[in-house]
Amino acid sequence: MDDPLQQPVTALKSIGPSVAKRLEGLGVRTIQDLLWHLPFRYEDFRIVTPIAELRIGQSVTVHATVDFIANRRSPRRRMHLTEALVRDESGSLQVIWFNQPFLAKTIKPGDHLMLSGTLQSRVGRLQLASPAYERIADLAVRRDRLAPVYPTTAGLTQKQLRFFISLALRHATTVPDALPAHLRKEHRLPDMRQTLWYVHFPKDEQERETGLRRLKFDELLAFHLGRRMNERGAPRPAGPVIPFSADVVKAFIARLPFALTPAQKRAAWDILQDVEKSEAMNRLLEGDVGSGKTVVAAMAMLNALHHGFTAAYLAPTEILAQQHARTFASLFAEYDFPVVLWTHGFHHLARSGAMRPATRKRLTTLVAAGKPFLLVGTHAILEEDVRPTNLGIVVVDEQHRFSVAQRQLLHEKGRAADRLPHFLSLTATPIPRTLALSLAGDLKISIIRQLPKGRKPVATQLIVSERRVQLYRREVEAQLAAGRQAFVLAPHIETSEKLETASVLDLHRELAALLPHRKIGLLHGKLPSVEKESVLAAFVQKKLDALVSTTVIEVGIDVPNATVMVIEGAERFGLAQLHQLRGRVGRGEHQSFCYLLPTMITPLVRRRLEAVCRTTDGFSLAELDLELRGPGDLVGLEQSGFLDFRFATLGDHVLMQQTARLAERLLKEDAELKRYSGLRIAAQCEFASHRE
Ligand code: ADP
Ligand code: MG
Repeated sequence: MDDPLQQPVTALKSIGPSVAKRLEGLGVRTIQDLLWHLPFRYEDFRIVTPIAELRIGQSVTVHATVDFIANRRSPRRRMHLTEALVRDESGSLQVIWFNQPFLAKTIKPGDHLMLSGTLQSRVGRLQLASPAYERIADLAVRRDRLAPVYPTTAGLTQKQLRFFISLALRHATTVPDALPAHLRKEHRLPDMRQTLWYVHFPKDEQERETGLRRLKFDELLAFHLGRRMNERGAPRPAGPVIPFSADVVKAFIARLPFALTPAQKRAAWDILQDVEKSEAMNRLLEGDVGSGKTVVAAMAMLNALHHGFTAAYLAPTEILAQQHARTFASLFAEYDFPVVLWTHGFHHLARSGAMRPATRKRLTTLVAAGKPFLLVGTHAILEEDVRPTNLGIVVVDEQHRFSVAQRQLLHEKGRAADRLPHFLSLTATPIPRTLALSLAGDLKISIIRQLPKGRKPVATQLIVSERRVQLYRREVEAQLAAGRQAFVLAPHIETSEKLETASVLDLHRELAALLPHRKIGLLHGKLPSVEKESVLAAFVQKKLDALVSTTVIEVGIDVPNATVMVIEGAERFGLAQLHQLRGRVGRGEHQSFCYLLPTMITPLVRRRLEAVCRTTDGFSLAELDLELRGPGDLVGLEQSGFLDFRFATLGDHVLMQQTARLAERLLKEDAELKRYSGLRIAAQCEFASHRE
């Protein structure tokens, strides 16, 4: 083969057929694939302190072997303690974790660990409390660098991957570079081979940043080029003309139990005027959690239904779909169109407000009948054979939680002849307007920046582990005694759903013991849908005092009587996500509380969590989150999730604008990018992956 990068991985001496097979499981076949198997984070092994040299109050990293590990219960406070004894060549050290009993199952005597945390003194003994830990059995990098951590699979260690990738990098004497040298120079970017070295094996944060900047630059430039080339000459898609019946909408508003905020009115009026035009609307409605986006969407849907169109509302999870179906059924109880709930697990039908189970067959008939109805559901609507005719408007809640393929399917389903329905997407992600506009050409934006009147900000507090039990017995109990309800969130565990389920079960048991007279529900992803629904329904109907849950309740759940949100393991969440979670309370007239309980506290954790306590504005939290990120994540922020960039994040406005300007200039010079064939191909690929 001519191109050395296209050779199979077995061209490298150390890779035999069995390793090649495992690599194939990661989508890695060629040397080029190996080069592009990028780390998703890094470990910093540069500063390791021998145990004998540790000082109290210092935040430290040690490398040690586990001698002993076991769980016990603290007799007075009913806490789970996991205690371990670890040692290195210089000495031994006691380690303690609170309320993470599963650790005793995952960490075994003889394990080599890297532990980071703050050193304390307890009754004269040195102790590392709630440290972060990593296994270092696989560690095979030089101690003076950041160590890459790769996505991997069974039978393939980090050590092996690091070794193979470093071989591949040495093997690849040249790496094709879509960006010509003069443009790299102009924007002070490294070439692609250097970039890959930086990203795989950075000497320090600076190198990692430089490499990452190049990847973001390429991604954004390709995106802008692709969008501009595609938009040229393409007519805007036609949409159904839906007259704005102000009288109908006003009558609806008059019956609401509250007055709309000016921002809600403005957004609704924008939308209702858009759908009167013959062009398909593509609008984003942005508003912080609790700002009241649902009722705005309801007005648009009602107006469409009134004019004989069908409307659809897509929610990212089954729980949300159910909740919204119930909300709409009651909002629209006085109108004669039916509300259909369609998810994988549920088929319900509401007429005049009351929701009842219905057979799939009955709903299929109803959908096909051609009379206007409101369809509420999850991606099940896209995947199953549901084909509503005469769709007027489609509302997509938290659109970025749907995959690109699902969004494409949505468009195909919605298309009738060459007409698209009007699209409205709702998001609580604070995307700066300029950013959104530069990313999506025909997008229009409405922003609800004010919360409904009379909302009291959620009082947020950081709780150290020593105060934890007291918190449940006093503060939480006081709210429950006053008739309010509480959410208690189990730590979010990225690595394993099994551990997450274990931790939520533990927490539920513990809380039941702490508050034996209270009814405490349990909700997690592994429960069958029917059970999830009934637990949630019980909570909504106040049959439960508290709900112990994983992040399945993350978005959108609306229970105004809930005034307490306890977040265990708070340091594991992004700030924007914490803000979202906090948004589950403070939705009614009562003062609400959010308690952040980190299992591990470092100076950075403290700063991040204190920012959440101080700030109630989701927008500034999102920005701060980007600022306070450690040398951690390479991959684009999950919570920004906007348009599926792999590397770029919300914080990259500057790069976003630079690349937009460059794209414009390049196309002016060379409309078909004849001189930049690499860029042309990249642009086509990048654009296709974002096409909505
Ligand atoms: P989000 O924007 O997060 O989706 P919701 O639409 O779920 O927020 O609204 C949150 C809560 O606020 C709901 O209980 C809703 O009925 C209520 N609400 C919406 N608009 C207003 C308003 N103008 N005044 C008072 N309450 C409102
Ligand atoms: Mg919502």
